[in-house]
Amino acid sequence: MDIKTVGIVGAGQMGNGIAHVFALAGYEVTLNDLSADALSRALSEIDKNLSRQASRGKISEEEKTAALARISTTTVLTDIGPSDLIVEAATERETVKTAIFEDLQPHLKPNTILTSNTSSISITRLASRTDRPEKFMGLHFMNPVPVMQLVELIRGIATDEDTYKTMLALVEKIGKTAASAEDFPAFIVNRILMPMINEAVYTLYEGVGNVRSIDESMKLGANHPMGPLELADFIGLDTCLAIMNVLHDGLADTKYRPCPLLTKYVEAGWLGRKTQRGFYDYRGETPVPTR
Ligand code: NAD
Repeated sequence: MDIKTVGIVGAGQMGNGIAHVFALAGYEVTLNDLSADALSRALSEIDKNLSRQASRGKISEEEKTAALARISTTTVLTDIGPSDLIVEAATERETVKTAIFEDLQPHLKPNTILTSNTSSISITRLASRTDRPEKFMGLHFMNPVPVMQLVELIRGIATDEDTYKTMLALVEKIGKTAASAEDFPAFIVNRILMPMINEAVYTLYEGVGNVRSIDESMKLGANHPMGPLELADFIGLDTCLAIMNVLHDGLADTKYRPCPLLTKYVEAGWLGRKTQRGFYDYRGETPVPTR
């Protein structure tokens, strides 16, 4: 199937990055969120990130202007129904995602492909709630989307070969590299990454190290470009907790038990960079550890 138009639900940190890469690759993009505020924040973020790419000579000023002109926004979800491809990138909560697909359904074209950027929720289960499980896939971008090369492609049990091949070609067209994963909780990247982050939070909780020593240890001792707690703040602690819960529930193994300290930070609303406080406090000039 030839995809020309892309409707994106959720204009948060992932949704704005996904809009950015599709628009830059020549697709007409419509971005949806609940409020006009969220959409204008997303547009200014896209503008800022495109400008950074232009100033580094990665794209031209003309490409930047053309990409911005290809993005329109709407607070009315059903406006994106006529798109060739839907990318759902709303909050990581199954009821939210299911409601979005249910509301969209009567407004979709018969051959519209549905995808979710979920980090962990079962693609098969999300697909089964729609009228087209064979045209439903996981299209899992990494954060920050314009920078990270990988896109995980997750087939639900019913996803057909045509849909998979269309998505494989699409990932190549937007200049990314696909890795195919089976539909089991948290797929590949987060199945490995999140237990490591959760273990870093346990290491903090049990007093083995403080925020700085844990991050420094993994940067200098394991050659990770970012420490696990810094990375957790970057991803969003609510998202990290949601993924750990999906692993814990889905695989029924106590090794995936979310650390109580991670839960406490989320309960406090200290969700990381997006709320300016998490394992670090970002309200000043430089991030200050909160423990
Ligand atoms: P975010 O909190 O930054 O953004 C979510 C956006 O969805 C918000 O702007 C919110 O207003 C909007 N939203 C919520 N309900 C909506 C609805 N019914 N209709 C329209 N918009 C709605 O979250 P995020 O980090 O961008 O994550 C979005 C998705 O991407 C999640 O499924 C997450 O698991 C996944 N993901 C996140 C990362 C990451 O590193 N943060 C990486 C890969 C995938």
